[in-house]
Amino acid sequence: MSGGVSEAVKTVGIDVDSVLADVMLVWVDEYNKRQNARITKQDITKWDIPSILPVSPDQVYQYFSHVWKERWQEIPPTEPAIGQITEKLHKKGYRISVITKRERPTVAYVAKWLDYHNVYTDDLLFIYDAVPKASYPFDVLIDDAPKNIIDIVAPKYAILFNQPWNKDFHWPVRVDRLSEAERLL
Ligand SMILES: [Mg+2]
Repeated sequence: MSGGVSEAVKTVGIDVDSVLADVMLVWVDEYNKRQNARITKQDITKWDIPSILPVSPDQVYQYFSHVWKERWQEIPPTEPAIGQITEKLHKKGYRISVITKRERPTVAYVAKWLDYHNVYTDDLLFIYDAVPKASYPFDVLIDDAPKNIIDIVAPKYAILFNQPWNKDFHWPVRVDRLSEAERLL
């Protein structure tokens, strides 16, 4: 008998927030409305938002949850027709595992968003606890969070998705768009 699916097929892990869904654009809008401010996503230059803006960690989470629950249809994909890019990866023979670490109440809305944008997935992993993404089964992970990719060791590898908050992090493979990652794979 030949090898199982996991040996034959490479799995691409794809993050949701700020890789598929450009959620921080709407987060910033929510922040501006509530705080009467005028910041842009480019101003979010640190992962730790309370270190650069006058918000508490709790408020960061509250705005984030609100945006996903009440404004999910306004959240744009990080590039047009993102579903077609996941479809291309699928047609190239990759398994697509969408892996997202999040608070339980936003899960239903994330699932709706993925359907709404026709994102192709072979599985969908919602992580609620502190288990690192690096310990999940994938061959390559596409993520914007340095903390998610720092523990990844060969033969697994990671592609860092450029965002204003990860510019200072040194990582050899970076992309601006999912389509760029798709061409590398
Ligand atoms: Mg992310």
